[in-house]
Amino acid sequence: MSKKPNILLVYTGGTIGMIKDYKTNALKAFDFSQILEKIPELEQLNCVIKSISFDVPIDSSNMNTLYYKDIVSIIEDNYHDFDGFVILTGSDTMSYTSSAISFMIENLQKPIIFTGSQLPIGDLRTDAKENLITSIEIASARKEGKPIISEVCLYFEYKLYRANRTTKINAEQFEAFASMNYPNLAESGVYLNFRDHYIYKPSEERKELIIRKNLVTDILILKLFPGITEKVVKSILNTVDLKGVILESYGAGNAPDEVWFLNLLKEAISKDIRIINVTQCSGGNVIQGHYETSIELKQIGVVSGKDITTESAVAKLMYLLSENLTLDKFTYYFEKPLRGEISDK
Ligand code: ASP
Repeated sequence: MSKKPNILLVYTGGTIGMIKDYKTNALKAFDFSQILEKIPELEQLNCVIKSISFDVPIDSSNMNTLYYKDIVSIIEDNYHDFDGFVILTGSDTMSYTSSAISFMIENLQKPIIFTGSQLPIGDLRTDAKENLITSIEIASARKEGKPIISEVCLYFEYKLYRANRTTKINAEQFEAFASMNYPNLAESGVYLNFRDHYIYKPSEERKELIIRKNLVTDILILKLFPGITEKVVKSILNTVDLKGVILESYGAGNAPDEVWFLNLLKEAISKDIRIINVTQCSGGNVIQGHYETSIELKQIGVVSGKDITTESAVAKLMYLLSENLTLDKFTYYFEKPLRGEISDK
């Protein structure tokens, strides 16, 4: 008989780990070391579950790159002893965090599934149990002795997504996430249906796990809007120590073609600030040069974010800046998929 998969549950914080104190009606953090006692359904899963929790669980609005490093260190320290990882975080910044973890770990051969919930695990109408139980099932799922998933994913409300393709789209509905530019990897109904064709397949050759903990955080997001002034853009691009900018442009990557605007971007690029063009639209692609209003962006060295999400672009920018690449190399790596986060076209 084959041995049961070992799954490590990592609780960082967020609504999922809260229970209601029925005497006071207040939500309070749940002691994760007691998870098996509190959710006896977990005993029925065909895996061995261990859990670990942040000493002080956080609301995901307080997430930052130091916590990313803590999550990656937990995975690194336990990588050989576990077959899969389920990371519980608040949903508010889950797409940012899971995207970053996807870049911080290279040659991953095991599933890392992020999940959380809109209602606390102790609430009568909670979505937490389904999200948690199915995430553990996905992290344990194997075919011909190999894990079905070997990438960083996000599971929420019956759908499994590639994490670095997701965006939080709703603060109230259980269906809180969307992956506009890449299909779901699995859907859970009566059966758990994996969509093999879209799931990342690691190379047969066993490549060593590479962990990167160095991220550059001197970056910002500049969202365009009609009426944005020269004064504002100038002051943003002159931020002390600025290394990279995610430029949220319009439609297919269009921006004002006014001279002052292009000159400010040019000046920033000449100071080695990397500028990435992503669209404000929730779906679709940046195609620099498709309209007149984006031809010059390409010519002055703005990098195309193609169909990447803003969340994933932030993570990829933090990672690639830490590699100290020339503009040509940086552009080459940014515009090509490293973890399936961007389409290869
Ligand atoms: N504010 C919470 C958080 O992101 C919401 C949630 O858990 O979904 O930590």
